[in-house]
Amino acid sequence: MTDALLNVYNRAPITVERGEGVWLYDRDGTAWLDCVSGIATNALGHAHPKLVAALTEQAEKLWHVSNIFRVPGQEALAGRLTDGCFADVAFFGNSGSEAVECALKMARRYHWSKGDEKRIDVIGFAGSFHGRTYAAINAAGNPGYVEGFGPRLPGYVQLTVDDGDAIAEAIARPTTAAVIIEPVQGEGGARALSGEWLKRVRDLCTANGVLLIYDEVQSGMGRTGRLFAHQWFEGVEPDIMAVAKALGGGFPIGACLATSEAASGMKFGVHGSTFGGNPLAMAVGLAAFEEIARTTTLAHARSVSEDFYTRLSNLSARHPDVIADVRGKGLLIGLKLKVNNREFMGVARDQRLLVAGGGDNCVRLLPPLIISHDEVEEAVNRLDAACASARAQLELAA
Ligand SMILES: *Cc1c(COP(=O)(O)O)cnc(C)c1O
Repeated sequence: MTDALLNVYNRAPITVERGEGVWLYDRDGTAWLDCVSGIATNALGHAHPKLVAALTEQAEKLWHVSNIFRVPGQEALAGRLTDGCFADVAFFGNSGSEAVECALKMARRYHWSKGDEKRIDVIGFAGSFHGRTYAAINAAGNPGYVEGFGPRLPGYVQLTVDDGDAIAEAIARPTTAAVIIEPVQGEGGARALSGEWLKRVRDLCTANGVLLIYDEVQSGMGRTGRLFAHQWFEGVEPDIMAVAKALGGGFPIGACLATSEAASGMKFGVHGSTFGGNPLAMAVGLAAFEEIARTTTLAHARSVSEDFYTRLSNLSARHPDVIADVRGKGLLIGLKLKVNNREFMGVARDQRLLVAGGGDNCVRLLPPLIISHDEVEEAVNRLDAACASARAQLELAA
């Protein structure tokens, strides 16, 4: 640890040096089974040969030119992404927060450009996470992330997923611009929203001329076994969508995708990014997209995730005093615990298993999509041992 770093992270006391597939290795050569994947980012595991090749080849040619020039890689990746979903256009940034920021600006600007300047309100939901910019923390409304950062921004409305009446009432208001939803809440604790819930909100938005924004920064790019999580359901497509995390397979890339209609207010000069969509990022993004969007990769993710849920429900039946609930979708898996989740991450580390924290006292399992069935079995065996030592070491909630 160094005092020269801003002290905003609760870092695990390990220093990994290299990775291969789902395994991380520290300086002593100890192997860790990685069910964090850089927080749902290294979807193809560590040091995937195709990503390494794409990165190194491009690194020798051209890294960055700025958006003053055409970047062919952007045109190619935008084409792949829009072919793979509802969207017509893409804007590239460098992170999830920037993708969300673009989505929120686009939604307000859409109504403004139609002469409907009063439509500025964005409806967000408790338990969401949209990133760390001012707009993102206000859209998600997590008290721990907005506190102390000055007044709440105007134009953000907070609701709960369960309050159907309030949702209908808020969407019908003439000041509402957009609704922002994570189809599977990630950081909030791996809560998957149902197809019926999404359909109802989609229909309410359509009926009221309100834009629907999905934040698929975590749930997208194959994480749930479809390219995007909302594609599990019919008739729930958004108007705008934020994507990042696994989009670059570990290289920082974010994208805001939209229909041409929703994007129609975004004219020349009103938005931009210096680094967004640079040639290096686009080369890696294209290679990652090609691997992740493959039918076989997505089918594999679905198959290992079914294996995971079967084994995890057996595990929770064996440890009802430690595990309260198994939830999530695909390989965005949450274990709601009856012991402190942060402490449980420590006992999992004792088993050389890395898991991520989450809201609602969850730990999240976010393995690379390429995890094998044997590695799923190994992960659950290590969780089994972690549950046993949690019982011995940690205080169980009554
Ligand atoms: C991680 C995440 C973000 C923020 O992404 P950054 O790259 O950290 O800015 C936004 N939304 C969701 C759903 C996320 O999981």
